[in-house]
Amino acid sequence: MSSNIDENFTENYIKAGKAVIAAKELARKLTRPGVLFLEIAEKCEQEILNHGCELSFPINISLNEIAAHYSPPIGDKTLVPEKGLLKIDIGSHYKGYIADSAITINLDGDPNLQNYCEAAEEGLNAAIDRFTPGTKLFELGEAIANEITKRGLKPITNLGGHKLERYILHAGAFIPNFREKRHSQILKPGDAYACEPFATSGMGTVVNGQDAFIYRFIKKKTKNISYDQLNYMNKLEKLTKRLPFSPRLLEKHKIIPTPKIDRILNIFLRKNIIDKYNVLIERTGAPVSQFEHTIVIDLDGNTIVTTKK
Ligand code: MN
Ligand code: MN
Repeated sequence: MSSNIDENFTENYIKAGKAVIAAKELARKLTRPGVLFLEIAEKCEQEILNHGCELSFPINISLNEIAAHYSPPIGDKTLVPEKGLLKIDIGSHYKGYIADSAITINLDGDPNLQNYCEAAEEGLNAAIDRFTPGTKLFELGEAIANEITKRGLKPITNLGGHKLERYILHAGAFIPNFREKRHSQILKPGDAYACEPFATSGMGTVVNGQDAFIYRFIKKKTKNISYDQLNYMNKLEKLTKRLPFSPRLLEKHKIIPTPKIDRILNIFLRKNIIDKYNVLIERTGAPVSQFEHTIVIDLDGNTIVTTKK
């Protein structure tokens, strides 16, 4: 048994999973036209904390052609519109064991957009059906792509699922959203993965947008750094445990005075102390749907979907 797995690891994942289930339910309840993204973000993130867990990344609330990585910044005035596909992607962790899960809300129930939701969700279900020891990761991708293309849509090929390790959200191994044979790792007992199909009518690739609202601590620097910056850097690393964060978290915990947050983050980006995640936009501007669950294989080979009842 690897040293970073303790015997209660499945229970820890289940605890993290319960927190994201509750946060997703709350997101569905709160999401109505005219509601601030910021209100959904603050309440859903608090729901994770109310379940005795911490955030493993800031909530992503991504509309239509934005596939991922929009998280409302401090003071955001964005409102939920009347129609469209709103993706809510939320993550918790308990003692470093991460649950990562997403839903897409079809705001006005439009039947054409509903097809996008069903494509991604059925793709996810088909992958979960094959989630047993011995399955190759690209076989999961094949199952996902079959469900999506059956509905006249395309999977997003440069996004996909990922292995989870303690305090590591993206741990290397990748679950493609199509039969991409270089991803030939085999599922085995003790593994945890987030599986996340995306469906679109566009080209099926995402590109980086201009803006970034999510950051991650990557490396300490001790040379050519002011005393204040050193202090902010150490607090930032300790608070975020090198998991992705929103500037909102720094405001909430008073790590950096609010008026200085943007400037300090830009300095830290230049010094390679932190990295940023740009918003990801479908190349042709087509709408995108996403569903995601965290799936754990216990040491007896049983599959546990931590984010599904
Ligand atoms: Mn996610
Ligand atoms: Mn994920």
